Amino acid sequence: MCGIFGIYGHKDAARLTYLGLYALQHRGEESAGIVVSSEKKIMSHKGMGLVGDVFDEKSIKSLRGDVAIGHVRYSTTGSSISKNIQPFSVNHSKGHIAIAHNGNLTNAFKLRHDMEGRGSIFQTTMDSETIVHLLAKSQSPDHRQNLVDALSGLEGAYSLVLMLNGYLAGARDPGGWRPLCIGKLDDAYVLASETCALDLINAEYIREVEPGEIVFISKKGIESQKPFSGKKHSFCIFEYIYFARPDSNIFGQNVYLTRKRLGKQLAKEFPAKGDFVMPVPDSGNYAALGFSEESGIPYEAALIRNHYVGRTFIQPSQFIRDFRVRVKLNPIKDVLRNKRTVIIEDSIVRGTTSRVRVKTLREAGAKEVHMRVSCPPLRFPCFYGIDFPTKKELIASNHSIKWIKDFIGLDSLEYLSKEGMLKSMPIPKEEFCTACFDGNYPAKPCGRMSKCILEKK
Ligand code: AMP
Repeated sequence: MCGIFGIYGHKDAARLTYLGLYALQHRGEESAGIVVSSEKKIMSHKGMGLVGDVFDEKSIKSLRGDVAIGHVRYSTTGSSISKNIQPFSVNHSKGHIAIAHNGNLTNAFKLRHDMEGRGSIFQTTMDSETIVHLLAKSQSPDHRQNLVDALSGLEGAYSLVLMLNGYLAGARDPGGWRPLCIGKLDDAYVLASETCALDLINAEYIREVEPGEIVFISKKGIESQKPFSGKKHSFCIFEYIYFARPDSNIFGQNVYLTRKRLGKQLAKEFPAKGDFVMPVPDSGNYAALGFSEESGIPYEAALIRNHYVGRTFIQPSQFIRDFRVRVKLNPIKDVLRNKRTVIIEDSIVRGTTSRVRVKTLREAGAKEVHMRVSCPPLRFPCFYGIDFPTKKELIASNHSIKWIKDFIGLDSLEYLSKEGMLKSMPIPKEEFCTACFDGNYPAKPCGRMSKCILEKK
C-alpha cells in the first residue's frame, strides 16, 4: 500500500505536500519522498522512515517550486530499499518525469521482461518504473498522449500522480482499485489518496478521479480524458474495512460510517452474550461502536493503546513475555476482571497477534472472550496492492473457523458474512473487488505473478 499526493500552482507546494503525506502516513511507513518542480528544474528529497523523520524545516525550505508530488510507501512489490523510494523521477529528452504510484500492476513482470529484452535498463525493482519506461517510449510529441499511450499497456491496479515537465497529472486504472480524489486550495489543485489529506491543508473536495480517467492540471485548469473508462469497477473493499482512515471519504463515501454499519450488521448476524463490547484499537473501534449500538451491550475501551510506540524500540534487557504486543496495547484489569467480553476485530490475517491479545485479556482476568470479526475470512492473497501474505500464511485459507477459535483461545468466534459485508457498503456490491474473500480475481496476473498465484492458490 502507499499514499500519494500532488499539488499544482501553489508557492508552498513542498510544505503542503509534506502535510498531505503526514495525513496519509497510515498508508505507508517505510519511506517518504517529495519531488518539486519550478520553471527550470526539479528537486527531490527522499528517505527511509516516517514523514516526520525524513523531512525537516531545512529540507522543506530547499524544495522550491509551485508543483509537487509526494509518496509514502509500504512495499508490496520491490523490496524495501532506498533506491525504491518514490516518487521515482528521471530526466528525459521529453522533459522531467516524476511518478508516485499506489497499487500493483499485474503485468509488470512481463512488461519489464520484454523491455529488458529490448535493451531497457531498470534502476529499481518497482513495478512503477515500467510506467516511466512506457512514457518514454511513446512516440507522440504531446505529453498527454504519451501518458495515454503508456497507461494503455498496463493491467492491474494503479492510482498515480505524475509530474510531466511541470504539469501535474493524475490517473486511475479502469477498475479503480485504489482511491484518488481532487481538491482545490485557493487557485491551486490538489490530488490525494484520501480526503483526510485535503482536510488537513484546508483544501475543498471537488470529486474523485474516476476509474479509467486521466486528469491533466496546468495553468488552464483541469483537463480530463477518459480513454479507459466504461469497464467494470473493482474498488478495493478492504480499504473500507481496514486500510483507509475513518475520517476519509474514499470512492465518494465515508469510511467511519461504513465501519459502524459493518459492526451493526455483525451484531445482527452473530449476537453475543457479554457484559460489554470492546474493540481491538484502533482498527476495530468503529465496528465495535456499531456492534454496541445495535446489540445494546455497553461499550468499554478495555485495551489502551500507547500512541508513542514507533516501529522500533530498545528491547528490554530481560526476557518479558509478549513484550512487542503488550508495549502497544495494555489491558485494564479492573474493567476485565470476571467479565464476559465481546471483542471486535476488523480482520484476522495470520491470527498470531489476536492469539497474544486474547491471552493478555485472560491474564487480566476476563472470564469469557468472544470475538466478532467485521469481515469474512481472508482466504486469498491480494495482487492489487494490499500486503496480504501468501495463501499459506492466511490462517483462514487453511483452517476451519472452529480451528481458528481454538488457536486464538476464544470462547466463540464469528465472522461477518460476505452478503452482510456487501450490504453494509455505501456503494453497490457489483462495484467491489472481493478477491481476498472469494478468490474472484478481476485481473489475471501474468508472468511471474501468475506463478505466484498458482503457488498461493
Ligand atoms: P493477526 O491476528 O495476526 O491476523 O492480526 C490481525 C490484525 O492485523 C488486525 O487487527 C488487522 O487490523 C491487521 N491487519 C489487517 N490487514 C493487514 C495487513 N495487510 N497488514 C498488516 N496488518 C493487517
